[in-house]
Amino acid sequence: MMFPSTIETLARAVAHEHDSCGRIFGIPAALFAPAAASPRLRCAHMGHSLDNPFGVAAGPHTQLAQNIVASYLVGARFIELKTVQVLDRLEVSKPCIDMRDLGYNCEWSQELTLEQSFDQYASAFALVHALARARGADPSGIGFNMSVGYDLRGIRSPAVTTFIDRMRGAGGGITAKAKAVRDAFAGTSLAVDELDVPERISNDVTLSTMHGCPPEEIERIGLHLIEELGVHTTIKLNPTLLGPERLRHLLHDRLGHTRVEVPDEAFAHDPSFEDACAIVDSLSRAAKKAGLCFAVKLTNTLETRNVEKVLPEKEALHYMSGRALHPISAALAALLADRFAGAVPISLSGGVDAFNAADLLACGVRPLTVSSDLLRPGGYGRLPQYLELAEDRLGALGIERLDDVPLSATKLAAYAERAADDTRYSRRTARPTFSSRRSLELVDCMAAPCRERCPAHQNVPDTLRLIAEGRADDALEVILRDNPLAATTGCACDHPCTLECVRNLLDDPIEIREIKRWAEENARADADEPRPYRRDGLHARPCSIGVVGAGPAGLAAAVFCRRLGHEVTVYEARDRLGGIPASAIPAFRLPDAAVARDVARAARLGVRFERGRTLGGDLDLGALRAVHDRVFIAVGAGGGRRLGVPGEGAAGVCDAIDFLERVKKGGPPDLGRSVVVVGGGNSAMDAARAARRLVGEAGRVTVVYRRTRAEMPAARDEIDIAEKEGVAFEELLAPGRVTVGTDGHVVGLECLVMELGEAGDDGRRAPVPVAGKTRTVRVDSIIVAVGQGRLPASLASSGLEVAPNGRIAVDVGLETRLPGVFAGGDAVRGASTIVEAVADARAFADAVGNTGGDGAAREIDANASLARKSRRAYKEAEPRAEAARCLGCDELCALCVTVCPNRANVLYEIVPTAGGVTQRYQTANVADWCNGCGNCAAFCPTGGAPYRDKPRICLTEEAAREIGDGAVFLLERDGWELREREAGETVRVVREGEHRSSETDPAGARLFAIGRALYAAFRYLV
Ligand code: SF4
Ligand code: SF4
Ligand code: SF4
Repeated sequence: MMFPSTIETLARAVAHEHDSCGRIFGIPAALFAPAAASPRLRCAHMGHSLDNPFGVAAGPHTQLAQNIVASYLVGARFIELKTVQVLDRLEVSKPCIDMRDLGYNCEWSQELTLEQSFDQYASAFALVHALARARGADPSGIGFNMSVGYDLRGIRSPAVTTFIDRMRGAGGGITAKAKAVRDAFAGTSLAVDELDVPERISNDVTLSTMHGCPPEEIERIGLHLIEELGVHTTIKLNPTLLGPERLRHLLHDRLGHTRVEVPDEAFAHDPSFEDACAIVDSLSRAAKKAGLCFAVKLTNTLETRNVEKVLPEKEALHYMSGRALHPISAALAALLADRFAGAVPISLSGGVDAFNAADLLACGVRPLTVSSDLLRPGGYGRLPQYLELAEDRLGALGIERLDDVPLSATKLAAYAERAADDTRYSRRTARPTFSSRRSLELVDCMAAPCRERCPAHQNVPDTLRLIAEGRADDALEVILRDNPLAATTGCACDHPCTLECVRNLLDDPIEIREIKRWAEENARADADEPRPYRRDGLHARPCSIGVVGAGPAGLAAAVFCRRLGHEVTVYEARDRLGGIPASAIPAFRLPDAAVARDVARAARLGVRFERGRTLGGDLDLGALRAVHDRVFIAVGAGGGRRLGVPGEGAAGVCDAIDFLERVKKGGPPDLGRSVVVVGGGNSAMDAARAARRLVGEAGRVTVVYRRTRAEMPAARDEIDIAEKEGVAFEELLAPGRVTVGTDGHVVGLECLVMELGEAGDDGRRAPVPVAGKTRTVRVDSIIVAVGQGRLPASLASSGLEVAPNGRIAVDVGLETRLPGVFAGGDAVRGASTIVEAVADARAFADAVGNTGGDGAAREIDANASLARKSRRAYKEAEPRAEAARCLGCDELCALCVTVCPNRANVLYEIVPTAGGVTQRYQTANVADWCNGCGNCAAFCPTGGAPYRDKPRICLTEEAAREIGDGAVFLLERDGWELREREAGETVRVVREGEHRSSETDPAGARLFAIGRALYAAFRYLV
């Protein structure tokens, strides 16, 4: 439940935050829209002359006064106030927003009473006028638009009628609000001498009808608004007007959002296109007769089934908004513009963003209002870019005044077609989400997701900062500190860091691997001499280390240990160093020279290599243990796993690694014309791409996988590249039998047709055979890439314990049951990635020293960082420019702050070291302003929910009483109290003046430090 603040509190908050931090409601001044309106963007709408055509849609951004103020500050000039209705005490399911990719919400119902809504809208109106005056701007270019629902009875009710009357200036009490603001601003940089705020807040209404409202009811309401109330009127239409065939074709076939289910009822209970046209015709004639404006707003959200169950399960349906709705809204706009020959103005909100706004404006669509886009990272701060890009792009089109641009059905139809083909709206650009499940603590939560996701926890942000500063040499040292295989991973790492780069949520992820590769290739020749690590703790004296295997795990372990000053000998069975990556990853992905550079670096450090030494052959584990203090076994995973189906022994069926090794050695097998690769990992992609080169243009290479492409474990870019190179993909097929010709050679692969069942422990949906359905693919060769499964037989007699999964058994520290003998990489994990091998190597090295230690903390400009996090910027070709796109998530995360529509998540500073706190910037949640929508939890890169787990600042006792568990911070004029609650009980209380010692009461000392910092930062709120 929310407890909206009074005008006095809000005005004080505005003035104080502005003067003390250079922000207002968390929006840094750098994001404020210019005070002077652009002549190009000015436009008329609903009886207003708007400074620009951008606004915020009725919804979470227009509920509380601070939301409206934040919208105004970033440039919104058409404020569609959140819909009100007579039923103003509804229980709304929570969480109610899921904006991680496509936007979903439970029906956004009013959460405030009509009285509270009026109070908030009037407060916002007064504040916006005062801020405009204080900034030397003309407030008349801002339009507040009422939105009412949902049926005629409710709209005619005395409560809603009174609301509308008051909004239209009947005894609204605006003068008192203006005085309160002027008083609060007095003596600050926002002080205004005169503040004349009009009594009329709004004289225009958008009619928001529930999904399923009958056409005749919509028309009756529209006529009531126009003829009886005499207000300018807009009606908001549903996307279902496109009709089931066209809508589903766009959504599923062209955009690929096949998992979005639109129930038949959605079409059955909504008006048809013809119904809607009749309503539009009737209302526009009525408005013309009454001398009022009339417009259509596209579109309402799309009713869909709650399949993913992110929103509460009890909601069978939820409502889709965001990017997938954009081509649908554009297509509907084109149809309506055509039907009415451009005579009925169309305003649009479905999936509008900074990059498509100018296209729509050039078609004559305006104003454009936004909600979903502003709920994503960057939040309100995304809006300034709309204005900048619109100004530039319309200028480039020679458009001097928006009002001169007519609504064009032809242009809209062409635009809608382009949008339907644009991957920005399709499933192919689905945005990944964070996988970290670390718990969210009261303080010190900020970390870079890229670094957390990297198995070796490489310091990506520092590397990118150094590269952006042109310091490739220093960047290479940072890379080498965490990862001795800088060249190999620069080319062939599966780079999971990229999947979790926060920029995925804004534009494009940073090309982390490519930039690091550039640094490795472009650092000074002598810049790669790694400095030694500190050697402390248990193994302060130099040890002798034996490493068995010179693959990624062995090589990396050798370098880590050498940098710790230990003597290291690597024993390798083959002549070639570098393991499977060196021998089997094709040269088009991993050149020999790259592996050679990593090996050379190890050799220069003094790592000794003994080639032709095989464990279980001429090498005996007992003897190794006698010679070395510690032994690290990194012998790889051994042979490839078999399909386990009849016929797989036939000629023409080969293992992917064997195949790739033969290709790399220059003696590839004859594959024939038609090749099937079974598997979905990186080896499968390598094998498919290598085979594609061998079969030539006339040949065909098909990857067969038992799940869908979306579940393939291979890096997404490897899959995309394979496809671009002509590899075909067959999803949901599992090998059942290899069919063999009379000559003993494979001729076909009979596959079981699969479907996806329930999600397994790894979160992926398990493939299940469809009863009785098979498919046979004709083939000349089959390459099996379903993982590696057999430990080298030579290890069987070494005394190492083999785990049930067929791998060497180790404890959490990677030590085997033989003391002093450790193991890592594929020998322990099975087929894994190069960087996972590096991670194991480091874990082993940490057992013989301390490889940790980052550079010193840097000064952070929080406002500059917040502004950067709002600006969308797509990939740069030049490495330094690309590195400069890094948002420094380790220094300031604040995702929860930017995405909160209610400005309830706030940033504060604390002195690091106070109470054991280590980070300077922290976040807290103003409980009175939070409605538990869950948006901050969806974007927080931890397993927690900021609005529940962070200290909750309560401005009122009522808010404090609402809170179940967690840290409840009650802010009072003359002090503060911080209660920690668990299982509904208060377990610890600290208060102003009750200092706690970190020696005797560390938990109390920490709470005290937090409480003191919160009070210092937010006492102005009471
Ligand atoms: S923006 Fe930079 S710090 Fe943040 S996740 Fe991406 S690479 Fe890492
Ligand atoms: S703090 Fe989080 S849950 Fe609360 S209103 Fe903001 S985004 Fe929603
Ligand atoms: S989103 Fe907020 S709570 Fe989550 S890690 Fe970032 S700053 Fe912390």
